[in-house]
Amino acid sequence: MGYIEPAPLKDRENPFEAMMSRFKIASEYLGLDEEIYNVLKNPTKQVIVSLPITMDDGSIRVFEGYRVIHSNILGPSKGGIRFDMGVNLDEVKALAAWMTWKCAVVDIPYGGAKGGIRCNPREMSSGEIERLMRSYTTALVEIFGPDRDIPAPDMGTGPREMAWLMDSYSRANGMTVNAVVTGKPLVLGGSLGRTEATGRGVMVSALAAMEKLKINPYRATCAVQGFGNVGYWAARLLSERGVKVIAISDLSGAYYNEKGIDIEAAVQYRDNHNGSLDGFPMADKIPGEEILHVKVDVLVPAATEDVITAQNVDKIQAKLIVEGANGPTSSKADKIIADKGIMVVPDILANAGGVTVSYFEWVQNRLGYKWTEERVNRRSDRIMKDAFNKVYNTSVEYNVPMRIAAYIVAIDKVAKTYKYRGGF
Ligand code: GLU
Repeated sequence: MGYIEPAPLKDRENPFEAMMSRFKIASEYLGLDEEIYNVLKNPTKQVIVSLPITMDDGSIRVFEGYRVIHSNILGPSKGGIRFDMGVNLDEVKALAAWMTWKCAVVDIPYGGAKGGIRCNPREMSSGEIERLMRSYTTALVEIFGPDRDIPAPDMGTGPREMAWLMDSYSRANGMTVNAVVTGKPLVLGGSLGRTEATGRGVMVSALAAMEKLKINPYRATCAVQGFGNVGYWAARLLSERGVKVIAISDLSGAYYNEKGIDIEAAVQYRDNHNGSLDGFPMADKIPGEEILHVKVDVLVPAATEDVITAQNVDKIQAKLIVEGANGPTSSKADKIIADKGIMVVPDILANAGGVTVSYFEWVQNRLGYKWTEERVNRRSDRIMKDAFNKVYNTSVEYNVPMRIAAYIVAIDKVAKTYKYRGGF
């Protein structure tokens, strides 16, 4: 029996501490009661499940799965499921709390949660992944529910996995319950516009920030780290709005072309080459971490946590950072970035387009109705722009960076809800 050991944290910043340090700063600005601070710093529920799975070769491996509900004070908790070797309880706790703040920033009626399984989906067959996803769902069938806790895709998962979750949950309940999960394939009640939603929100918030900084998109350059669902859609939609994307990257390295990268050619190359950009001929290959140091106006980290750190932040030349990933900037880098005068549209605002359209998917499922793509996009763009303006105005009012302003907006909403509901 193989047991999958947690990946070492190495010298990475603990993501939960990274989240907490910003939470603490924002709480001080808000003058948050210590009681509410203590309530919010602890997740409501943390579940760890052990998942023995028969592998294709007949052996049995035991995987560890997590689901953390940070808060459900504003409504059912919401957040994705991550399949990655780096998954551990502290990471899932941080990601769950970020979901609480994210849903509050865009003002949708959800709390925050996150799930994950420590595994390497790239090395597993689709049958193995299916068994893993179904056994995870069965283990958490009492936790999930359209009025309780609603999962969605995250790193390493997509519509296929959400379909298995929806099916297993529905079987256990003896009826089809499509509102239990979002990011589903369209035929199962997925929403038009959900696939591109996170990247679209990144584009909308990037353009809003560029307007404040007086950067003309038609003269602007951009680098995008990560070429998964978020990075690809952000790069594509930004280039459709006139921004020249001159560097992209994935696990294989970074690809640079000062004349601009043809994003459609890159995605076709990736899809025909086992999901990797390795060997992409229409750009020069540079070391992966160089993507952060390229001279551009806009930098979009859309890969993973803790990539912009106190060690490399000095090399960043961008005027604007728009965080497509969750937690890409370490808390120690925040101050240096602020001192350098770089504007950051923080994760809990910039990548909230995904959960916003997840909310629309859930609304449509509950109505038994389907919206047009035009309606989804129009409404999510408006929510993103309103949230951007609210955070921007808060940052001016409190004279703080956008990140702290976003936490202020979010914590204020959640704390007020606690005050009205009470019941401690
Ligand atoms: N995993 C995505 C996120 O981090 C989407 C969550 C959702 O749609 O519930 O925002």
